[in-house]
Amino acid sequence: MSNNEKHVKVLILGSGPAGLSAALYAARAELNPVVLTGMQLGGQAALTHAIENYPGFPTGVGGAELGELFQKQAEHFGAKVEFDMAHEVDFSQRPYTVKTDSGVYKADTLIISTGASSIHLGVSGEVEMTGRGVSYCATCDGWFFKDKKVVVVGGGDSAFEEALFITRYASSVTLIHRREEFRAGAILQKRAKDHPKMNFILNTVVTEVLQGDKLTTLKLKNVKTSEESAFETDGLFIFIGHSPNTEMFKGKLEMNNLGYIKVNDKMETNVPGVYAAGEAADPHFRQVITSAGMGAAAAIQATRFLEAEE
Ligand code: NAP
Repeated sequence: MSNNEKHVKVLILGSGPAGLSAALYAARAELNPVVLTGMQLGGQAALTHAIENYPGFPTGVGGAELGELFQKQAEHFGAKVEFDMAHEVDFSQRPYTVKTDSGVYKADTLIISTGASSIHLGVSGEVEMTGRGVSYCATCDGWFFKDKKVVVVGGGDSAFEEALFITRYASSVTLIHRREEFRAGAILQKRAKDHPKMNFILNTVVTEVLQGDKLTTLKLKNVKTSEESAFETDGLFIFIGHSPNTEMFKGKLEMNNLGYIKVNDKMETNVPGVYAAGEAADPHFRQVITSAGMGAAAAIQATRFLEAEE
């Protein structure tokens, strides 16, 4: 084994709620799990300003704070969290090989909790203006829009939750949605509709982000009347859903047509000893609590798998 090749019983890819919960359970089973953080320590949840539906926190908890608590608890029982990123896997023989930025892991079992990333609108100017007015993270960038006009695109929980967060800073927040009905939960909808800084433009899509030193104008189109218009804004926040971070496993693990890894009710993939948990394998719920539950289940199953081999 070369110097930078490490053998572990349980390797966990990703440090969101699924990965860190898996780490907690595998650590308590004395399997000395290693978690590779990926790009975003704490996963998407860590970018969420406030999480109000994770039990045990009656008045909510910050996403980053919850991630830190998950990490501390897993480390307390012996999990190791490494700032590293996997970029290639080989499942042709056990132990499985995972190549990372820092070296190579040989893993007896693998728990994939690589999460998901924001979907882009795909309109002209969006990529060029990202960081110059276009953003996918209110917690990261909301502060830059103090007393400014902001547009939020999307009609789900994320759009509503993030739009409400941005009202702390912005002078106005206009939510633009392509339909008349929203997917967001009733409580969030009511809060947003009652908020004095919030406005709504429905049946409308953004067709172009005008380019310049900073964002000034969006082109909009009413999908019912086909009428086009220009809308002045300082910021555009896009929350139109997520796609799973599973590119690395294409052709190696069974997935559905959207790229979510297929697991059975024990979090098992089609490769023995390889489990998937959280948003990488969950097109249905995508909650902190469901991801954490999947992570715990994956670790319990990995433990049973290793015990059966002994
Ligand atoms: P989502 O529920 O999939 O909603 C995406 C929204 O974006 C939909 O309203 C959709 O419109 C719109 N959209 C999609 N593609 C679009 C496009 N190309 N142009 C314009 N609009 C587009 O995604 P999400 O809000 O990120 O939520 C994901 C999951 O996380 C959900 O299960 C949600 O419940 C959960 N979540 C929960 C909480 C919470 O419980 N507090 C917070 C955040 C997220 P259509 O409606 O027309 O399809």
